[in-house]
Amino acid sequence: MNSSAEYNRKWRKLNPDKVNAQNRRYREKYPDKDKANRRRYGIKLRTDAVSQLGGICVHCGIKDIRVLTIDHVNGNGSSQRKLMSSSTVYRKIRDVEIDLCLFQVLCWNCNFLKYLEKDKEKGY
Ligand SMILES: [Zn+2]
Repeated sequence: MNSSAEYNRKWRKLNPDKVNAQNRRYREKYPDKDKANRRRYGIKLRTDAVSQLGGICVHCGIKDIRVLTIDHVNGNGSSQRKLMSSSTVYRKIRDVEIDLCLFQVLCWNCNFLKYLEKDKEKGY
């Protein structure tokens, strides 16, 4: 990372009120651009988190980011979502601020199969 990016990052961390006011003005002036930027950032964050965990379904091996999801190995995802948002979890995974052993990458199909196999009474 270059030094001006580091400087800007530190400045933003030290001046949260100025950053929030600046972001609010931008949101009000350019709502469509802001929405597009937020969506792009969310996709990048999720992609980075999936990459940090290997970027491939650990069950079937598919690599298409559009169908990959982050699975809680111990099945405690719903309780964790009450504590922090998905984007917070993605950021913590990306920055390795959380135990990565708690997570694995699964595609939607393999994730759903894991859900079905956990409780055979679902009828399948
Ligand atoms: Zn899979």
